[in-house]
Amino acid sequence: MSEVGEELADRLRAHIRDVPDFPRPGIDFKDITPLLADHATFSATVDALAAPHRGSAIDVVAGIEARGFVLGAPVALILGAGFAPVRKKGKLPGSTVEASYDLEYGSATLEVTSDAFAPAARVLVIDDVLATGGTAAATVDLVRRCGAEVIGVSVLLELGFLDGRAALVAVGVEDPHALLTF
Ligand code: AMP
Repeated sequence: MSEVGEELADRLRAHIRDVPDFPRPGIDFKDITPLLADHATFSATVDALAAPHRGSAIDVVAGIEARGFVLGAPVALILGAGFAPVRKKGKLPGSTVEASYDLEYGSATLEVTSDAFAPAARVLVIDDVLATGGTAAATVDLVRRCGAEVIGVSVLLELGFLDGRAALVAVGVEDPHALLTF
């Protein structure tokens, strides 16, 4: 299933490499480095991620560490928006706002700088993969706790069987965009 035309969907699929049992047994890792390495495919990906949000007056793209930085920064430039890195705890200097979420084992914490978003800023959240949705939902929480508004969540690919979409709908993001669903 895909949100883009079949030609682009085929091109994207052809540039995403499955790496079995990485980073641990049982995980089928979606490696996007072949996609990033190919200018035409990288460019088409970024254009397709930006397309639904053209004209939405996005102020800031929030990219989730680390592949959300690589995809989110060029989307921000296309949309005429700024960029805010959403980082794992302990990487950002100065005053930060954080949000924690549960993982299969334990928990994780994401942070942004306290001044990442102006009050009521319109924010688009970008990442490469939507899996269980925990990371994206925590980012939505983070953006809102900074006083900004989440306009959308967009990813390159969604692992449909993990139902991250439901996790986002549960926090009020009605229509997350995914270029591809695996
Ligand atoms: P989740 O919080 O379960 O939705 O996981 C999403 C985050 O973990 C994203 O930042 C992805 O980069 C990464 N991720 C989760 N599963 C995979 C996978 N199978 N392949 C590549 N990245 C993944």
